[in-house]
Amino acid sequence: MRFADRITKLPPYLFVEISRKVAEQRARGEEVISFGIGDPDFPTPPHIINRLCQTAQDPANHRYPETEGLPQLHQTIAGWYEKRFGISLNPDSEVLPLIGAKEGIIHIALCFIDPGDVALVPDPGYPPYSIGTILCGGTPYYMPLTVENDFLPDLAAIPNDILSKARLLWLNYPNNPTGAVADIDFFNRVVEFANEHHLAVCHDAPYTEIAFDGYQPVSFMQAAGAKDIGVEFHSLSKTYNMTGWRIGMVVGNAEMIDALKRVKSNLDSGVPQAIQYAAIEALAGPQDCIAECTTKYQRRRDLVVDKLNSMGLKTTPPKAGLYIWARVPDGYTSVEFADDLLDQVGVVVTPGIGYGNSGEGYIRLSLTLPDATLVKGLSRLAEWRNRKLSSGRKG
Ligand SMILES: *Cc1c(COP(=O)(O)O)cnc(C)c1O
Repeated sequence: MRFADRITKLPPYLFVEISRKVAEQRARGEEVISFGIGDPDFPTPPHIINRLCQTAQDPANHRYPETEGLPQLHQTIAGWYEKRFGISLNPDSEVLPLIGAKEGIIHIALCFIDPGDVALVPDPGYPPYSIGTILCGGTPYYMPLTVENDFLPDLAAIPNDILSKARLLWLNYPNNPTGAVADIDFFNRVVEFANEHHLAVCHDAPYTEIAFDGYQPVSFMQAAGAKDIGVEFHSLSKTYNMTGWRIGMVVGNAEMIDALKRVKSNLDSGVPQAIQYAAIEALAGPQDCIAECTTKYQRRRDLVVDKLNSMGLKTTPPKAGLYIWARVPDGYTSVEFADDLLDQVGVVVTPGIGYGNSGEGYIRLSLTLPDATLVKGLSRLAEWRNRKLSSGRKG
């Protein structure tokens, strides 16, 4: 048997090693507390589940769905964008439901990347942007996100020979893993840059509804001319605690959406219809569930940030998203520090290098653990700190 090059080219999955250690510790009966995974611990709100159960009973929803989804879902997504961001979208040509945002993020590479082409991707960043590129035989060009640049890419620093081969520009704000946000001025500059260099822009925006202290994230589609050159991926996963149901969407440029629709019509048969009705209920129904969860995440954010800062791990409270991005202590790489926390006190954090080379020196902590577990995890971090102080190691 001989596997394709694209399989051997996939980067090794760093988190496999962490999962192995966690499994070992748990098998020994030790309790491991994980800040690793970004998956809401709250259930999907009951009104959404009720709609799902009702529509699952209807035989009309037992058959193949259409790849492009129910017209009513298209209209609901367009209505949600109008209400939330003041953007008007053509429900037929500028909206496409996805089997989760990740599905569309990977598959849109098939629409743009031929062997030898380049995609510009944020570093650190959500891995599927580069993985989709690699699976198509393309090459990711990593744009460093640094604290000095407020974790926004320095577009002017991208070399011309790269730009001439680049087809796609990936962005993600509110950002995973750094917690950074972008304003409309930045997005306006992105549109200008994309026009200048004939790039298609893909903005990934699953965290626009998880924001703190009254801050309201903007949509890339609000930038002037965004619809001429780009699309925005969105998801119900984080907003409505629906990661398990697999539904998201992409909106914006009609040609880009049509290309993705053509690819998908040959690949999948759409989202199960009862889940589409659940999404309609989520987007058009009562929205108070969002504020309820966000209030809880904000409280967790404050607990984590305070604890990390009191330990000397420098971090600032993010305005949005589900993650805390913190500096590791001097003298450790991100993997060494994550390993040490797991070995010493049974706490899992994600090493920043797992999101790209520019993530070195950082760890990511997710806010999606139940309060009591989170508090226990934080006291274990303090215990790690005390042990280090008494053993004399700096940090
Ligand atoms: C969680 C996440 C997604 C995935 O959303 P799904 O709709 O569940 O596939 C996409 N992008 C980023 C940056 C995420 O963190």
